[in-house]
Amino acid sequence: MDEAANDNSGPAVKRRCPICSRAASPEFKPFCSKRCADVDLHRWLGEGYRVPVALDDDMRDSPDPE
Ligand SMILES: [Zn+2]
Repeated sequence: MDEAANDNSGPAVKRRCPICSRAASPEFKPFCSKRCADVDLHRWLGEGYRVPVALDDDMRDSPDPE
């Protein structure tokens, strides 16, 4: 219980995951997790990055599972 869990007085500015804006993990920086790194990777590889157009009815306000 000695951990400095305060993200207010950190010595270094924590990077934020460009995908979900969470604190980045040193392992996957600048992302927070492999999942987000994957998402970004797919954006680059996803020739054109198809944007779903019909997410108005079903996933209009999808709640975050977390
Ligand atoms: Zn993330």
